[in-house]
Amino acid sequence: MSDCLFCKITRGEIPSRKIYEDDEVFAFHDINPVAPVHFMLVPKLHLGSLAEAGETHAALLGKMLLLAPVLAKQQGLDNGFRTVINTGKGGGQEVFHLHIHIIGGGNIPPMVRRN
Ligand code: 5GP
Ligand code: ZN
Repeated sequence: MSDCLFCKITRGEIPSRKIYEDDEVFAFHDINPVAPVHFMLVPKLHLGSLAEAGETHAALLGKMLLLAPVLAKQQGLDNGFRTVINTGKGGGQEVFHLHIHIIGGGNIPPMVRRN
């Protein structure tokens, strides 16, 4: 996708603070971090969202999930981390290129506020 922001980042056409790259995936720090460590792991293949993934992407998605804890540890998240995948407008997705947020450090609040 020529005009997709994350495709441009993976191609190096838009600068990013890269933390990992191989032939299939790319990881870079979020420009607007919500925690001391906040980076994204994306496939180089353009996939609009998780809802557009299919059986042919199973190995790629599995690889990304297995890579997440490796990269998290490299970023100093020895104590755990949060993974978030926003899917579609209803899921609050803003950039329509599939990405896994990896978030940690500091005080990560519970996902659901209980009163
Ligand atoms: P979404 O809401 O789609 O799950 O997340 C999109 C994320 O991309 C947001 O956390 C936002 O801060 C990040 N983002 C948006 N534009 C850029 C950019 O140009 N560079 C980087 N590194 N992150 C970006
Ligand atoms: Zn893309």
